[in-house]
Amino acid sequence: MVLRSIIQDSEKCLEFSKVESSNIAAVGVLGSDLIVWFKGGVAYIYPEGSEHYRGILASDSKGTYFHQKIKKIPNCGKLCSSAGCLKRVAYQSNRCLDHSF
Ligand SMILES: [Zn+2]
Repeated sequence: MVLRSIIQDSEKCLEFSKVESSNIAAVGVLGSDLIVWFKGGVAYIYPEGSEHYRGILASDSKGTYFHQKIKKIPNCGKLCSSAGCLKRVAYQSNRCLDHSF
């Protein structure tokens, strides 16, 4: 189910790649933003973070690169967990208003 969500999400991205990491499942570019999908099934968006797409793919440790360069990007947000929906949600929510029931 998590995998299906990532694949549908990825269709909206300019670039997308699964990665080998203990906690990160995939990264993608949406406009100028960077999206990181975590193995727990949650995805976060990092505004103006697309410049780090090549960097994290090239890094030996995705987790280290994430903690040093991406995690500190301001105004990041959690994304709706519904497949293919890339709307931001509150941190305590899993789905946006369109997909909550
Ligand atoms: Zn949604």
